[in-house]
Amino acid sequence: MSELGNSTIRAELGRASWRLLHTMASRYPKRPTEDEREALRSFIYLFARLYPCGQCARHFQVILANNPPEVSSRNAVSQWACRVHNVVNKRLDKPLFDCSQVQKQWKCGCADADDEEDDDVQAAA
Ligand code: FAD
Repeated sequence: MSELGNSTIRAELGRASWRLLHTMASRYPKRPTEDEREALRSFIYLFARLYPCGQCARHFQVILANNPPEVSSRNAVSQWACRVHNVVNKRLDKPLFDCSQVQKQWKCGCADADDEEDDDVQAAA
C-alpha cells in the first residue's frame, strides 16, 4: 500500500475508519454464530492489509499480531477495538480513551439516537 503523506487526509481517514470499526463493534451480535465470528475476523485482517495509508497499515498489522481480534461477543470486540485504538493513540501521543465508556460512546455511531441497545444486527436483517 502506498504512503499517505497528507496529514489532514490521514487524520480524516483515521476518524472515519475508527468510527466504522467502533460502530460495527457496537452493533455486532451479543451471541455471534461461528460464521459471524469468522466474517468479522476476516474483515479486520483485510482492513489491516488494505488500509489506504501504508505506514498506518504496517503498524496496525504489528498491533494485530500482538492483539488478535476478539470476536466472541459484542462486548469482547468493543473492548478489543478500544484497546487497539489506544495502542495507536499512545504511539501518536494522544490521550488514552477510558474503555469502560466505549459502549456508551459508540452505541450506534450516532450520539443522539434513541436507545437501540438490544437491536442486534440480525434483528435488522
Ligand atoms: P481519532 O483517534 O481518530 O478518534 C476518533 C474519536 O474516537 C475520538 O474523538 C474519541 O471520541 C474516540 N476514541 C479515541 N480513542 C478511542 C478508543 N481507544 N476507543 C474508542 N473510542 C476512541 N495516523 C498516523 O498519523 N499514523 C499512523 O500510524 C496511524 N495509524 C492508524 C491505524 C488505523 C487502523 C487507523 C484506523 C488510523 C490510524 N491513524 C494513524 C489515524 C489516527 O489514529 C487518528 O484517526 C487521526 O490522527 C485523527 O485523530 P483524532 O484525534 O481526531 O481522533
